[in-house]
Amino acid sequence: MAATPNLIAMVDEMNRVTYTSASLAALAHIENYEMTAGRPIIDLFPDINMKLVIGEIVEAEGFYESTEEFFLNGERRYFKIISDRFRGNIGGRFIDISDITPIMTARLDAEEANSAKSIFLARMSHEIRTPMNAIIGMSELILREQTSPAIHEHAAAVKQAGNNLMAIINDILDFSKIESGKMEIIPVEYEFASLINDVIRIRQVLLNLLSNAAKYTNQGSIIFTVESARNETGSITLKFEITDTGIGIRREDMDKLFGDFSQVDTHAHHGVEGTGLGLAIARSLCRSAGGDITVKSVYGEGSTFTAVIPQGITKEGPFASVADSETKNVLIYERRDIYANSLVRSINNLGVRCRLALTGEELVKALGEDRFDFIFAASCLFDEVQDQIRKERIDTTLGACGTLVNFCMNMQKIHKRNRTRSVRGS
Ligand code: ADP
Repeated sequence: MAATPNLIAMVDEMNRVTYTSASLAALAHIENYEMTAGRPIIDLFPDINMKLVIGEIVEAEGFYESTEEFFLNGERRYFKIISDRFRGNIGGRFIDISDITPIMTARLDAEEANSAKSIFLARMSHEIRTPMNAIIGMSELILREQTSPAIHEHAAAVKQAGNNLMAIINDILDFSKIESGKMEIIPVEYEFASLINDVIRIRQVLLNLLSNAAKYTNQGSIIFTVESARNETGSITLKFEITDTGIGIRREDMDKLFGDFSQVDTHAHHGVEGTGLGLAIARSLCRSAGGDITVKSVYGEGSTFTAVIPQGITKEGPFASVADSETKNVLIYERRDIYANSLVRSINNLGVRCRLALTGEELVKALGEDRFDFIFAASCLFDEVQDQIRKERIDTTLGACGTLVNFCMNMQKIHKRNRTRSVRGS
């Protein structure tokens, strides 16, 4: 009653006011709206046409409804009027439905100002990037050419600060591009194998989610999986899932995460830098491509961010295959079990048998029991395996786990040429 702009009144059987809204009291020039009680309702309305309508309402047996035009303080205003009688008392309201043009104009002005702000931000960020590149590039040159440890240290600090600032500027640039509607998503063909490297928008989303996972996880693991599901139309939806064992997110903070410049639980960040724009940008990018990002988290235990993006298919076929896969046998020697298991799954997906050794004893046992075409070992365990195969005179091809994907794709070639006996790569 105190706040509504509508003119509301309750009257008794004698048509005397029992209660009005503050806006009606103001119309009758009564300062305190609680002081209207006891007055004849007709007295409160200054306008003769309004008084006529009140007369009609009072005469009416029950429900009354109409739309009227009045001139109040020289202004044309429209009201929808509804009232009803209950045990002799009348409750009625005049709802102002006047022209909303001024409100709409004000809103459009505000939107225009917001868009001008975004364009300004975009231009500024762009202008700042050029000299920033020079600063970073020049400090890089100093780092290469200078031998003095003190100058080296200072130049490294300049470069680091420059890179941090660049990351912030890039975020603002992207954000303002999205806000001002200048971010375009263009459909192009790409090879699935290079998805994460070459498809800039997808890479940006994943880099953001992965670097957040790394930033907010002090201990444990980060698991990144890619899956796809076929849609009814023949296209596919890619599902990227990033699960960390980090600080987690409070339930009440979940809705805020994707807001602009929004950081939550900052005291738990321990000096981690950020603008709070990353997730807002990542979600906008996904949504403009017809997808979305969602999150699940247990505070103190970790979070799972899931990005889904629909993609069309132009040509179909496996992007990695192994000739005579069923005849091949692979051994993985890797001590981190989550990583090791994901490698085993990758090899199995190619239709190749795979045995896992998590310890030195398991390695020796496996080599004694089985014959392996390929052995993949963690870089730090590489020498151990090499010594073992030399000692036992085992004929196999040894590679580092990090090169496994390339191996899978090139297995056939390597096998045919039969030349690389030991490859160590990154
Ligand atoms: P920032 O630049 O601060 O990382 P983001 O928009 O990427 O900005 O993330 C917003 C906030 O969401 C972060 O400040 C952090 O509080 C929270 N957050 C994002 N990812 C995670 C995560 N994996 N674990 C815990 N908190 C996260």
